[in-house]
Formats: sequence, C-alpha cells, structure tokens
Amino acid sequence: MPELVALERIIELGAGRLDARVACQVELPGGGSYPVHVITLGNPSREVPAVGYFGGVHGLERIGAGVVIAYLQSLVMRLQWDSTLHKQLESVRLVFMPIVNPGGMAMGTRANPQGVDLMRNSPVEAREPVPFLVGGQRFSAGLPWYRGPKGKAMEIENQAVCEVVRAELLTRDFSLSVDCHSGFGTSDRIWFPYAHTRAPIAHLAEMHALHNIFVQSHSHHRYIIEPQSLQYLAHGDLWDHLYREACAQPQRVFLPLTLEMGSWLWVKKNPRQLFSRHGIFNPLIEHRQQRVLRQHQLLLDFLSRAACGHQLWLPSPETRAQQHAQALQDWY
Ligand SMILES: [Zn+2]
Repeated sequence: MPELVALERIIELGAGRLDARVACQVELPGGGSYPVHVITLGNPSREVPAVGYFGGVHGLERIGAGVVIAYLQSLVMRLQWDSTLHKQLESVRLVFMPIVNPGGMAMGTRANPQGVDLMRNSPVEAREPVPFLVGGQRFSAGLPWYRGPKGKAMEIENQAVCEVVRAELLTRDFSLSVDCHSGFGTSDRIWFPYAHTRAPIAHLAEMHALHNIFVQSHSHHRYIIEPQSLQYLAHGDLWDHLYREACAQPQRVFLPLTLEMGSWLWVKKNPRQLFSRHGIFNPLIEHRQQRVLRQHQLLLDFLSRAACGHQLWLPSPETRAQQHAQALQDWY
C-alpha cells in the first residue's frame, strides 16, 4: 500500500515536530493487520481552534488519502524553514487521519474488511426516503452500502474517528473538518450536513459565512458547495452523527465538510479507466493525479487559515439572522 508507506515515512521525517499514534489496528480476514494512524501538529491548548483532515474512509478512493497525505507532507517539509507556518501553528491545532480504512484499501474494496460501508454505519436513521441500496442497506455485507448489523456498535475504524473528533475537535469552541472522498459526478463538490434529512443544520449561518470567505478569496475556484441532501439522502452518515453530537454543546461550533472529487470527469477523459475498478474512483494517468493532488491543497490550507481567523468572519449576533436567510435562499 504505497499510501501507508508514504504516510509512515512522513511521520518519521516529522519526528519531534508532530505527534503520531495508532488509533486502532485493523485485522484482515486472511491474517495480517494495518494501523490507523493519527497525527497531530500545532498548539495542543484547548483555547485554540482545530481542524481535522480525514481520508481513505472508502478503500477504493485512494486519491482522498493522497490529498490529505500530500498536505501533511507539505506542512512537515515547510516546518524546516517556514517561520510563518510556525506562527500559524501557534494559533491552531491540526489533526490528520489520512487512511481511516486501511483494510479496505489493502483489499481494494469501498467497505472495510467486514464488508461495512463506514459512511453508512453510524446510528443516524434517515428521516425521509433514501435511494434503494445507495442510501444504506442491511440485506447483506456482500452488497455495497452495507450498514452493518442492526443494534451493533460502530465498526472500529469509525469508533477511532469518533474518539479523535471528540478528543481533538469537540473540546474546542471552534473546529472544522474535511473528509476527502472521490467518485461522485463530474464536478468537485464540498458537502456539509445533513445527509439524513433535507432540513438545514443549526449552524447554517456559520456555514454560509465560511462559504462566503472561501468564494471571496478564491475567485476562480471550481467547487460546488452545497448541503449533501441536495444530491441524495442516506442512513448512517458519520458526519451527521458527529455534528449532532457536537450540537449538544450549543456554545461551540463544529463545521464538518466532505470533499467529493468528481472522478467521472477523469473517466470521461480516459474511457479505458472504466475497465479498471480503481479507475472509476481515481485518476490513473500520472499528470492528472499530480494535478488533482495539487488542486486541493489550496482548500486544505484555506481551512487551517479559516480556523485561525474564525473570530474575524463568524457571523455576529446582529448579522446571523441575515446570513441564515441568505443561506436558505441559496441552498434550500
Ligand atoms: Zn467515498
């Protein structure tokens, strides 16, 4: 698994400048196991905001892990000389889980080694009808989008994500996260909750303010930014689950994003990819892969800067209602 080798090398290179631990060890059915690494950088104080970077939740979507690893690598390399980065890291905590599902990645499956789709596995039930199978199913682990057995605890990979989010993000007044996926449609999308209902989230005004500062400072960006529910609804979304948990502390703000890189475009440009299972979810041609890895670094870096400066752009009590109304008009 080249992604895991690359990640472990970066952890070695960054020794002394970052903290790394293994959140859990995932067993493969045929024997052997793979670690789920968690890497943290920046100020550990609970007084500063935090950003979580997640990838590799779906084993087939290797490019998502690649994008997170590329950003971590760039930070680790810059720490050797970039004094502005050192300054930035005094006022933010960064948390990385680039390969959440190493078992699925090793086996070449979307699901984890138990056949469970980690993005359908949380206890959240959709409130409105979901698309057949795609929205999550409990018929069989042999079919895609399997949610896992009813009433059972979440899979260990998801438990590890929840534990990291609770410890590192939900303990702060402000946090952001981005979970990098690929495979949906031809455009790059940034999704925010909910996936289980078309109802808007409580922090719609904050999400809209984040959207505004991104668009204003990246005028040529190509992302479609929208609630996931505009595309499809699903059971068991992990970020809906964690967002709802975060809402139990109303004085705090947690804004989880999902990056969906539109890989159908890569297939369109290179139709031979259709015959390769990996090709549908990942750019196969090297120069295209490099461009994809490069393109999204800007977004990942934006999020750490947005977290640092959150007090400067979060809506005030006076502007919040206006921002909320604008968001309803734009998205619902
Ligand atoms: Zn995915």
